[in-house]
Amino acid sequence: MSGSENVIIVGSGPAGYTAALYTARANLSPLVIEGFAWGGLLQQTTEVENYPGFPEGVMGPELMQKFRDQAERFGARLVTDQADRVQLATEPGAMHSVWVGGSEHRARTVILSMGAEHRKLGVSGEEELAGRGVSYCATCDAAFFRDAATMIVGGGDSAMEEAIFLSKFASNVIVVNRRDEFRASKIMLERARAQSNIEFLTPYNVKEFVAGDAGPLAHAVLVQAETGEEREIPIAGTFIAIGHEPQSELVRGQVDLDESGYVITEGRSTRTNRPGVFAAGDIVDHTYRQAVTAAGSGTQAALDAEWYLRDTPGIPVLQGMPVGDPAEAQWAPVAVDGRAPAVAPPPAVEPQSAPVADAARRP
Ligand code: NAP
Repeated sequence: MSGSENVIIVGSGPAGYTAALYTARANLSPLVIEGFAWGGLLQQTTEVENYPGFPEGVMGPELMQKFRDQAERFGARLVTDQADRVQLATEPGAMHSVWVGGSEHRARTVILSMGAEHRKLGVSGEEELAGRGVSYCATCDAAFFRDAATMIVGGGDSAMEEAIFLSKFASNVIVVNRRDEFRASKIMLERARAQSNIEFLTPYNVKEFVAGDAGPLAHAVLVQAETGEEREIPIAGTFIAIGHEPQSELVRGQVDLDESGYVITEGRSTRTNRPGVFAAGDIVDHTYRQAVTAAGSGTQAALDAEWYLRDTPGIPVLQGMPVGDPAEAQWAPVAVDGRAPAVAPPPAVEPQSAPVADAARRP
């Protein structure tokens, strides 16, 4: 068993590394269990053009390397391994345990940032042709399929959004859905239907993706869901948009999850139902799922953890950690039944007396 940590961050990616950067700069010396495939979904992408601060774009893996380097520069300690098990305390101030292999790591706070994975179809050719025609993110890869024949698999809002984005690049987009009905909202479906180069094919399942002689994807084999009839669709690119799987199995049964497995957090905070346990990034977010929003929520989790360490009775004031204004002053209380809550405004705080929040916000 290792000594007692202030913060253990489980998972990397934009949320985890940003939480690591902020807690490291607050002198909390975070321990990051970053996983073998550190960096999360951005490691699987190519050029990222929508991360602010990179006007020329940046490759996903390079961006993650920069996040990681920046966290390390301020003292984050990285363990390139998987967390196998956790035991999360139920009482405020009590210690949490995280096991990596046979080693137990104990900490006063834990930040969960294990992210989400694209749901896979699990058909032949999908894995082999990933990055060679099979993709899970049109926003990332659509530009590679300029004037090419393409296909979207799925019938939800993501599939419609991906189809509309892709239609601006590709010559044509076929949306393949396994049912005649679509899960997508009416407005998204109508927007997709309004594009002249998007067509719909239902009810069909994908049987396999097949490479051409040159190597990349050449066609998909589809099966009519009711008749079993097979047909080949020639395509250069396909985008699979059948949902995401939050990587929350590690904490199931301890942290409250919603019906889809996303971690439930309290109000606008990153607090989970376990005291001292916070969650950030795609493991919480089934709506926005952007690198920049994940990084933002990593910041929130770091600040929530700092405030918890500072304000929880029974936790000794940590050396090097400044004292300051109460955490509650940092965000508006959640309104109940639409009315403003009857809470007195927090007292005004001199900037010098709020060094934690100040330090965290400095560029
Ligand atoms: P989703 O709503 O769960 O839809 C998943 C789609 O994939 C469904 O059509 C589903 O078919 C299909 N599917 C699932 N597993 C499949 C399989 N193994 N083979 C074939 N098809 C399969 O997921 P999502 O579209 O990613 O959306 C997630 C959430 O984000 C939703 O709440 C959505 O509204 C929101 N979102 C909103 C926007 C927006 O408003 N701009 C954009 C994107 C996402 P079945 O219907 O048959 O199950």
